[in-house]
Amino acid sequence: MRDTVSKATLREFDLIRWIRQEAPADDRVLVGIGDDAAVVRNRDAATLLTTDLLVEGVHFDLGKASLADVGWKAMARNISDIAAMGGRSSVAVMSAALPRGFSEEQARELVRGALACAAEFDVRLVGGDVSSTQGPLVLSVALLGDTAGRPPVLRSGARPGDAILVTGTLGGSILGKHLRFRPRQAEGILLGERYSPHAMIDISDGFARDLHHILEESGVGARVWASQIPISDEARRAARESGRAPLDHALGDGEDYELLFTLDEADAARLLADRPFDVPVTRVGSVATSGPLVATPEPRRASAHRSRDRQGAVPRRTGRSVTVAARITTSEPRPSGSGSRSVTVAARTGPLAATAALVLPDGTEKPLEPEGWEHTA
Ligand SMILES: [Mg+2]
Repeated sequence: MRDTVSKATLREFDLIRWIRQEAPADDRVLVGIGDDAAVVRNRDAATLLTTDLLVEGVHFDLGKASLADVGWKAMARNISDIAAMGGRSSVAVMSAALPRGFSEEQARELVRGALACAAEFDVRLVGGDVSSTQGPLVLSVALLGDTAGRPPVLRSGARPGDAILVTGTLGGSILGKHLRFRPRQAEGILLGERYSPHAMIDISDGFARDLHHILEESGVGARVWASQIPISDEARRAARESGRAPLDHALGDGEDYELLFTLDEADAARLLADRPFDVPVTRVGSVATSGPLVATPEPRRASAHRSRDRQGAVPRRTGRSVTVAARITTSEPRPSGSGSRSVTVAARTGPLAATAALVLPDGTEKPLEPEGWEHTA
């Protein structure tokens, strides 16, 4: 860690020496803070590496967030990215550009937040850099992690027929959760160990956008059931203020830092029966082949189904000339919310890949677009 702090603003203050005292080392750290580079031990052949940048006025507002909150968030966002690969975070470096006039105590508060998060998730801070700036506060963390020899869970592994699941509840994170959130590290690791997720991502951009990241990387489409989206209390509060629907906040707000992942049907059923986490897990849809999707009730049960539910799941959307690529039979919740029904999805290839449909409670569908969500902030 080179000492490039402006001597004019942080005179007599050796931030690096202080961090060196505050940041514990362990057997992963062969050489920690104090040399030109840290030397760390990697247990595994496959090492995960991620970095993230937070800029004042873009990612946080010091009118609403404490410096300790910002430090926590900088560390936690990276841990969340490693968790989304099914990995455990190990060692971190952190760099900051501190605004001129920043006091010693302010710098310490920032670092304390990052160290608190690191301690909570057993991460060691092994180095970094600090400078002063005439601009806003800028904070960057880079993090190493590993999957203990298991293959990392990529965005590109979703397969038609997979169940789509999400941890926790979604929406309204701007009301506070986006700062002091707990990355789903234990959950991501346990999923990787026991349930063989095919694809996974942490929800930072928003459910709709992050689902599309999986769909695009995997070359598949999806149907998402509006009635099954776990809407947070904060999303309902945000909706009262914004005048928009709570569901819109849940699908679009982002910074939930929950895990969004796909499992084959059998593993999904096992996970939902086991409920191995404190945090809830909800199945919210199914993966299909790419292209616009049309849902039709399973033929054998269609007549009985229609007599019960006139709306059924009859497609409303027509248009583009497309060909049927596959039919997938899957079970989904009834619009009424009681029990499930078997539905055959005709997945059609069209000019667009990675198309997702949102199935509304009345059985009609509309496109679930990745873009166009308004931010609550
Ligand atoms: Mg991510």
